[in-house]
Amino acid sequence: SSYHKILEENRVLYNQVQDLKGAIRVYCRVRPFLPGQPNGQSTVDYIGENGNIMIFNPLKRGKDARRVFSFNKVYGTNVTQEQIYADTQPLIRSVLDGFNGCIFAYGQTGSGKTYTMSGPDLTSEETWGVNYRALRDLFQLSKARADIVKYEVGVQMIEIYNEKVRDLLVSDGSNRRLDIRNNSQLNGLNVPDASWVPVTCTQDVLDLMRIGQKNRAVGATALNERSSRSHSVLTVHVLGKELVSNAILRGCLHLVDLAGSERVDKSEAVGERLKEAQHINRSLSALGDVISALAQKSTHIPYRNSKLTQVLQDSLGGQAKTLMFVHINPELNALGETISTLKFAERVASIELGAARSNK
Ligand code: ADP
Repeated sequence: SSYHKILEENRVLYNQVQDLKGAIRVYCRVRPFLPGQPNGQSTVDYIGENGNIMIFNPLKRGKDARRVFSFNKVYGTNVTQEQIYADTQPLIRSVLDGFNGCIFAYGQTGSGKTYTMSGPDLTSEETWGVNYRALRDLFQLSKARADIVKYEVGVQMIEIYNEKVRDLLVSDGSNRRLDIRNNSQLNGLNVPDASWVPVTCTQDVLDLMRIGQKNRAVGATALNERSSRSHSVLTVHVLGKELVSNAILRGCLHLVDLAGSERVDKSEAVGERLKEAQHINRSLSALGDVISALAQKSTHIPYRNSKLTQVLQDSLGGQAKTLMFVHINPELNALGETISTLKFAERVASIELGAARSNK
C-alpha cells in the first residue's frame, strides 16, 4: 500500500540521515574554462576518485610544484547540476523529518558559487541549481507523504552586507502581493528578523527569487559588485503535523551563497571597499572557526563573532548537517586564490574526515 511504501521510504531516508548526522561534508567543484576564453593551462592536474585533487603550479619546480588536497568528494568540470543535487538530496530531504541543515557555496568571485546554488538560467530547468531543485524536491516529497503528514513550507531571503541583515522579500511594488507572515509563527527557531512567505510550488519560488534579485539590486551601488560582496541566504522552513499523532516536525534549511573569498589588495582598497573587504574576511573566518570548532567537538563554539554565524546558529552543530561546496577557478591567474580556498576548505574538513576514517 502507499502507506507502507512511505514507511519504507522513510526508513531509507532515516538511514541516510543517520549517516549524515552532525557531519560536516566538504565537496569541491572545479569550474570549466568559459567559452570565448582562451583555454590556458589548468591548475588542476588530477582529480582522484576518492576525493583527492592535485593542484599544479607551473612556476614551481620538482616536488613543490604539486600539492594534493582531500575532501569528501571532488567534481570535475563535466559534472551536471543534477549530479550535484543528487549528492545533497539526503540532507535536503531530512528537513522534512525535522532536521536542520546548511549548504554553503564558498570560493572566489567567478568560481561558480551562484552557478551551483541558483544556476545560470532560470528558464531552463536542466541548469537549475541546488536552490530550486531542493524546493521542487521538498514539494514533491511532502505531497507524497500527504496521507501521513501535513506540511507547510515557507521561505525567507536575506542578504548580509557589512554585517547588516537586509530582508529581500519586503514588498517591492511589483504586481505580486507577497503573503508575508509574522516571524512569531516560526516559534522555536532562531531565525533572522525578516519576513517569510509561504510557498506551495516551484513557480512561487521562482517568483520570489525574482523579487529577491530585484530588491538586491535596489540597494546596490554597482550591482555586479555588490552581489559578490554580500552573503545571500535563502532559508526554507518546514512545519509538519503528523495526522495521527498530531506531533509537530520543524525543520530549517539554509542555502547560502557566500561573498567572494578573494583577498583584497591592501594598497588598492580604500574607504567603502576596504570596509567591505574587512567585513567579508572577518565573517568568512568566523564561519571557518565555527565549523572547525564543531568538527573538533569543542565546548565553546564562537557563533557570536559574526552576523552570518549568528543567523545560522541553529542550523550549525548539534543534530544539524553542514555541507560546503568549495569552488575552484582553474585558470592560472587564479592560482593564489585557489590555494587559499583549498586551504580554508581543508581546515573545515580535515578533522572530521580524520575522525571518520579512524572510526572505520
Ligand atoms: P560566482 O558566483 O562564484 O561569482 P558564477 O556562478 O557567477 O561565479 O560563475 C562565473 C561564470 O562562470 C558565469 O558565467 C557562470 O555561468 C560560469 N560557470 C560557473 N560554473 C560553471 C559550470 N560548472 N559550468 C559552466 N559554466 C560555469
